[in-house]
Amino acid sequence: MHDHRKLGRELELFDTDPLIGAGLPYWRPAGAAIRHALEEYVYDLERRAGYQHVHSPVLAKRELYEISGHWDHYRDGMYPPMRLGADEVVLRPSLCPHHAIIFRSRGHSYRELPLRIAELGGMYRAELSGVLGGLTRVRSIQLNDAHIFCTLDQVAAEVAGSLAMIRRAYRDLGIEPARYRLSLASPDAKYVGSQESWDTAADILRKALADAGLAYDCGEGEAAFYGPKIDVQVADAGEREASLSTIQVDFYQPERFDLSYTGPDNARHRPVMVHRSVIGGLERLVAHLTETHNGAFPPWYAPVQLAVLPVTDDQVDAAAAVVREATVAGLRAELSSPEGKTTLGARIRQARLVPYLAIIGPAEAETDQVSLRLRDGRQLGIVRPEDALAKILARVRNRSHQLWD
Ligand SMILES: [Zn+2]
Repeated sequence: MHDHRKLGRELELFDTDPLIGAGLPYWRPAGAAIRHALEEYVYDLERRAGYQHVHSPVLAKRELYEISGHWDHYRDGMYPPMRLGADEVVLRPSLCPHHAIIFRSRGHSYRELPLRIAELGGMYRAELSGVLGGLTRVRSIQLNDAHIFCTLDQVAAEVAGSLAMIRRAYRDLGIEPARYRLSLASPDAKYVGSQESWDTAADILRKALADAGLAYDCGEGEAAFYGPKIDVQVADAGEREASLSTIQVDFYQPERFDLSYTGPDNARHRPVMVHRSVIGGLERLVAHLTETHNGAFPPWYAPVQLAVLPVTDDQVDAAAAVVREATVAGLRAELSSPEGKTTLGARIRQARLVPYLAIIGPAEAETDQVSLRLRDGRQLGIVRPEDALAKILARVRNRSHQLWD
């Protein structure tokens, strides 16, 4: 495992600039290609699991966070408010309050529950400049987030469903949790809500972990201010742990926002809010994927999936045609031409992290074929480009980790 900051620079995934500021990395095209593939993936995963996507603004009036409790309990992590006319607005430290407002904006029947609202949205943390670095400690986070509004009876199934989504995503991404952690309140600290609701929430989470057969540790003092949570921890190149995914059970914010649904008895009832993130913040996720795979990403989210290499300048046109064909088919393909001087060997080494390489010499150009090889060195012989592209596309669509059979 290598430090993602070094690899990120080598692979031109992201960078920072003093004028933009510390902890505010920007994504270069290669990094943005990975991120886009991951975003599409999680949108699709959530849609299939019955989530509805929304978009909400990255800032709001200070009052919103006074109601949610963030202003009292999380202010140190928030940016200072900005004065705007008669209002004060703040960059959001989380998406929950916006989603609570969206839920509250219209009446709900018990028949609509569980109602799952998801968003890939920006959130902001006023991290101290001393701890910032690469993509792991940043001040601007693009978070895969969702809030499930449900009855108390539905919470256990929603937690189990979220846990299953996390495990499925880790398989598809080719990563492993360092451990599961049940994050509880610290016995001496002050938290919001009743002891009874905290105990109920912790019991549900404990049972979900046990039912899934997962070993876990308890982290006292690691809970959110509004409730306990399951955190899925990953370890970086320096063996430092961080939470990537999370599932939280919250009785507090529904109370604060006076959320309700109409029950079968026609009376108003309070929903429970399950907060969950499957792949966490995209910054931290991409840092972890980069380190885990040492830049040799599985084909489905590799920034370049196919490199096409003409042996000499004479085959550049044939190679460019294959790149166009691959691009139209939906692959991320790149032409690596000799430009008169760079040897084929040097270009193959340069493309060592690209899963598929198509080489076109005079003989291949003559017969409209390519010589296909894999980044692990395997050579698959001479094939027609359309056959190669179809097979590569099938592997990308299946999110296969096997480059070939
Ligand atoms: Zn939340």
